[in-house]
Amino acid sequence: MGVAKIKELEHRLFRDDEFWKKIPGWAAVDRETFREHTWQLRNSIRKFDQVKSVLGKLATPELMSDIEAGLKRTPMNIRITPYIFSLINWEDPWNDPLRKQFLPMGSQFLDDHPMHQADSLSEDEDSPVKLLTHRYPDKVLFLPTTICPVYCSYCTRSRIIGGSTESVAKDSYGANKKYWDDVFDYLRTQPKVEDVVISGGDSYMLTPDQLEYIGMELLKIPHIRRIRYATKGIAIFPQKIITDGEWMMALSKVHQFGKSYGKQVVIHTHFSSPLEITKWSQRAMERLFHEGITVRNQAVLQVGVNDSVEVMIQLTRQLSFLNIQPYYVYMHDMVPGCEHFRTTLREAIELEKAVRGTTAGFNTPTFVCDLPGGGGKRHVASYEYYHEEYGISVWKAPYVKPDQTFLYFDPIHKLAPEIQKRWHDESERNKMIEEAKSFVKS
Ligand code: SF4
Repeated sequence: MGVAKIKELEHRLFRDDEFWKKIPGWAAVDRETFREHTWQLRNSIRKFDQVKSVLGKLATPELMSDIEAGLKRTPMNIRITPYIFSLINWEDPWNDPLRKQFLPMGSQFLDDHPMHQADSLSEDEDSPVKLLTHRYPDKVLFLPTTICPVYCSYCTRSRIIGGSTESVAKDSYGANKKYWDDVFDYLRTQPKVEDVVISGGDSYMLTPDQLEYIGMELLKIPHIRRIRYATKGIAIFPQKIITDGEWMMALSKVHQFGKSYGKQVVIHTHFSSPLEITKWSQRAMERLFHEGITVRNQAVLQVGVNDSVEVMIQLTRQLSFLNIQPYYVYMHDMVPGCEHFRTTLREAIELEKAVRGTTAGFNTPTFVCDLPGGGGKRHVASYEYYHEEYGISVWKAPYVKPDQTFLYFDPIHKLAPEIQKRWHDESERNKMIEEAKSFVKS
């Protein structure tokens, strides 16, 4: 990976040009229109034909046939805001980190790892009531909706998010108050729970009333001390923070209510590439900072998006400059349709080593592996045993599930050819797994 060569102050420069005008379909859109959250939503790209029509002459037959093949194979539908769509480098979309994240192409896919799972983190298994995962004693994950302002090709909840695709039938759901009330009833009976993550789906897609209702109901439960709205919105649709006054007012109201009771109301967002950051992001963050709302970031480590030291340091510095705490970088989950995005555990460890020390500790992200099977997030270097040759790491989660051992697998295509061959033979595969596990005491 080498030592990062970063221009020290480059992270303070945010583009503010009219980049959307390079897209033929939006060449006549003025800044005021582009600024409007309603325009961004109305003009989001959701269909193959829309890609073609806004790209105009940029939509070459080669590009369009690769996108068409991608849409046949991906577990995620597409939904891309004009903001993100026009930040893509359409001169070379194949190598563009934003295109990779949001617009799948047939040429990118690799076969899924044999140990992949649709619900890799076993969220459904640890669900005592619909829409809720309760794994840790003091923390729960609440999924009030399955819609998002963009659909990420690498979504860990591709089994439910964003509606069925040609390759996957999904049990998606919209905002439904009846199920939410069941969640609140359950939480009232759980005095150990102090922390609620409101995710999905994306909190950006809750109406102001829904956002306020959920926030207030949770904060009224005496033992709940912290709520976090999870949204990728700031990264892919900052115009909403800037121009959706009602939504911001609802957020601010919940935040103030929490504050008056000594409780935290924060946002967890999801920037993965410095290319997502522009002057629009800075304007949105100035507004949130002015409201006194803490924002933390959770990035996902992805090949060709942010798996280099230079990019990760740039992302960390830019987020810090915007007053967003770079909290976590996740190893990619072992979900379908994502093998091309995944790194080895070794690559993640080396990346963390290189990033650590480049800025203040509290602004240095912790690199974690969210253990398949529901062991929770563990620091990348905290495995019990790592058989690098086989690409198998063995983990424990003593507090969460003391009797269980968890396994994470490196992508097969990054292993030596003779080991790849063994992975394709079921009995050889099982022998390798048993051998790796045998190094760890049960
Ligand atoms: S915003 Fe989050 S929940 Fe929605 S598609 Fe992206 S990763 Fe999945």
